[in-house]
Amino acid sequence: MVLTIINKQYYIISKHITLSGVSFFMRIEQGSEGMKIVVVYGAPMSGKTTYVRNAMTEYDLVFDYDALTHAMTSTKYQQHNDNAHTLVMSMRDKMIDHAKQSDNGVLYIVTTFLSYKLMSEIETHFNTQYKRMDTSLDECKKRIHDSDRPNKEHVMQVIHEWYGKYIYNKKLTDSDELSRKSKALYNSKDWENIKAMAFERDNHLCQICLRKNRNTKANLVHHIIYVKSDYEKALDLDNLMCVCSACHNKIHSKDEKEVFAGEEKQKNVRVIKV
Ligand SMILES: [Zn+2]
Ligand SMILES: [Zn+2]
Repeated sequence: MVLTIINKQYYIISKHITLSGVSFFMRIEQGSEGMKIVVVYGAPMSGKTTYVRNAMTEYDLVFDYDALTHAMTSTKYQQHNDNAHTLVMSMRDKMIDHAKQSDNGVLYIVTTFLSYKLMSEIETHFNTQYKRMDTSLDECKKRIHDSDRPNKEHVMQVIHEWYGKYIYNKKLTDSDELSRKSKALYNSKDWENIKAMAFERDNHLCQICLRKNRNTKANLVHHIIYVKSDYEKALDLDNLMCVCSACHNKIHSKDEKEVFAGEEKQKNVRVIKV
């Protein structure tokens, strides 16, 4: 007998009966109302859209922030547009309300990062599932490299941010050996060279401010996947991002305070192998 409690409101009781070597599966569902909401999240190029397209039936709906923003603006992928943001977010609220009131089908919500706002909006909906794309960092890097996207460098940074947030930066190592290695790294010619390449690539502008359409001079080069998380990526240009001091402080203080609480808050994550 299996008893599953989801959000304390809903339960499924399933029972396996074996008769003469044949296994029967009995499932009694209670409390079914509203569309199922499936949140599909993963790094850029991890295959979210393809996954949803293959899973969807004719009754289902999909909310895809990037696709909707792209459809109503002339912005590049993941570039911010205030007007579009307000409209697209109100559309998401409407779609979630609709899902709560309708009976058939699935509402897929495609997102790169899980936000508190989204999670709290659907927290009370019993029929919710989170699916995390399990594509590897190297595979995402290869896909963006081989693609014809115009702003590959930016997408590459977002890919590293995603892996930093959900995978690598969850595990920080701190040892005397690592401190020695980091100290040597920051004094090395290799670091000076790669830093100069990063500044040149990012036009000496803070990449975080740029997303909000602000031009701020960058004075620091940040390791998106921390040196303490993976020393091997310390001299990887794709893992570097030029930022201003204010944004750099925000990145680190935010990460320390609330890192990953978002995902851990809900226990219902299924990892999609692709
Ligand atoms: Zn900044
Ligand atoms: Zn940093």
